[in-house]
Amino acid sequence: MNRGPKESTTPDATGLLLWLWRGYLRRRTGLLLIALVFMFLEGSMFGFLSYMMKPMFDQVLVGGSATALVWVALAIFAIFTTRALASVVQKVLLTRISQLTVGDIRLDLLQNLMTLDSTFHQNFPPGYLMQRIEGDVESINKVWKTIITGAGRDVVALVALFGVAISVDWRWTLAALVGTPLLVAPAMLFQRYVRANARVTRDVAAKLSTRLNEVFHGIVPVKLNRLERYQWKRYRDLTRQRIRLEVKSSFGQAAIPGLIDVMSGVGFVVVLFYGGSEILSGEKTVGDTMAFFTALGLAFEPLRRLGAFSGIWQVAAASIERIKELLDMVPELRDPDVPKPAPEGIPGILLEDVFLEYGDTPILRGTSFEAEAGKTTALVGASGAGKSTVFNLLTRLVDPDAGRISLGGVGVSEMTLGDLRSLFSVVSQDSLLFDETLRENILLGQTGVSEADLDDALEAAHVADFLPRLSDGLDSPVGPRGTNLSGGQRQRVAIARALLRNTPVLLLDEATSALDAQSEAVVQKALDRLSQGRTTLVIAHRLSTVRNADKIVVMDQGQVVDQGTHDELIARGGVYADLHRLQFDDS
Ligand code: ADP
Repeated sequence: MNRGPKESTTPDATGLLLWLWRGYLRRRTGLLLIALVFMFLEGSMFGFLSYMMKPMFDQVLVGGSATALVWVALAIFAIFTTRALASVVQKVLLTRISQLTVGDIRLDLLQNLMTLDSTFHQNFPPGYLMQRIEGDVESINKVWKTIITGAGRDVVALVALFGVAISVDWRWTLAALVGTPLLVAPAMLFQRYVRANARVTRDVAAKLSTRLNEVFHGIVPVKLNRLERYQWKRYRDLTRQRIRLEVKSSFGQAAIPGLIDVMSGVGFVVVLFYGGSEILSGEKTVGDTMAFFTALGLAFEPLRRLGAFSGIWQVAAASIERIKELLDMVPELRDPDVPKPAPEGIPGILLEDVFLEYGDTPILRGTSFEAEAGKTTALVGASGAGKSTVFNLLTRLVDPDAGRISLGGVGVSEMTLGDLRSLFSVVSQDSLLFDETLRENILLGQTGVSEADLDDALEAAHVADFLPRLSDGLDSPVGPRGTNLSGGQRQRVAIARALLRNTPVLLLDEATSALDAQSEAVVQKALDRLSQGRTTLVIAHRLSTVRNADKIVVMDQGQVVDQGTHDELIARGGVYADLHRLQFDDS
């Protein structure tokens, strides 16, 4: 079992931020520093601007000095151009940093999710995981920008603006801030509200993508069972839920900057009343007063942004927690600490007293059999007998509760997963084809395959037979999951794949749905060719395969109940003879 997501230990905000910094942001320190310099530059320009109000009013407007007019105008122009340039540079740099960072997180997530066990993937459907990788990471992206911009530009702007305000009158500045302490309690309440909401919103978003994924993957059954309206309604209900949550969340997020507005309003009023007499008596110049109020006015925006930050952070924290959980998960099925080398040559397969339960249901109950090296062994048994489970155990998609499974004497858990899986080719009718071209589906990333080898494989797998009928030959797209091809064609593609992989062991899961006689004959020929010189284990449904097998292993309810050749088993009567009568109806 995977260590599932932990609900109880919610790391605090600082912990999450540190985790992000250590894991992802630290490696971008260089770029970050450059971006910060430009942000400082951008932020400080507001301070200069408000400071310029003093000479503008006192020397130009009141004093009427023409020289002052020129230099004040030039200075203001310089302030705006510097701000514009710095702003462009910092935005581009910031986008680069944040995209690099979220790119890293996405890649790490994908890498880790692909290693997790099948049980994990049964519990977390594809749509859910896609939402994690895309949606949750995106909300981190947002917080990056806000944190960095906040730290770099807005804090500097605030320091500069308050510097100007204090230089005019520190008592006025204090008076302007009188409302601040009143903000703390409601802001904290709103934060908690936003975070709780954000967690549910992320959940609903994941459910929404799961729905879509299910619908589009299952579009044919959806249509055939007339489920369009049903699926649409389920999606609609979730969408409504999401709308409610997003609206609530936006209220929570907007409320904090709203509080800051109220506080600023209070500040203005207090200063006007408190400092009003000094203004009226002329104790303060118009320039002083203007510089003070410009600084205060300009401080609004960065203050609001910093206020909004706490909301954005709460939303992101909910995502970061989830991402961290996924990244922290480790697969139960992993490489041994000291792996043994994979067996050389063509290994035989041995199962010794293997037990496996799913939940509390026993699936395999002391399964033992041998598939001899270089021979073909057929597994037969009623549906649910545990045949596919044997394949899953061999390829270590699951580990047994007890017993030993070995190839050429080396236990499957004694070698690395990579070495183990390199021993097998798996061919089945639903052998997954990817939505790429036929060529890519056959080569599966193998480079260095010569055209001659490829042609041989196509010929031997009888892919060459239907190739001329495809519009673009090997470069024809096979459609999602190979839906442009027929069952028999898909199987032949999988056989060509296996021929090129050229592994010593072949696991063959025959189609349960019957192919037409002609396809069956072609596929059978291709398979015969493929199994030459390999250890072949086949879940058999076809009479021909069963008859030709060197050995037949009969499974029933997770146990091997009989084994031998076709003739021996028929002669003995029992489960095989019954199955045979039932399935092939030829006795
Ligand atoms: P066969 O291939 O012989 O038809 P399987 O090996 O596929 O049988 O399945 C054997 C039993 O194990 C079935 O009863 C099936 O329901 C159960 N089973 C298979 N996979 C799982 C799983 N991931 N979780 C729970 N039960 C499973």
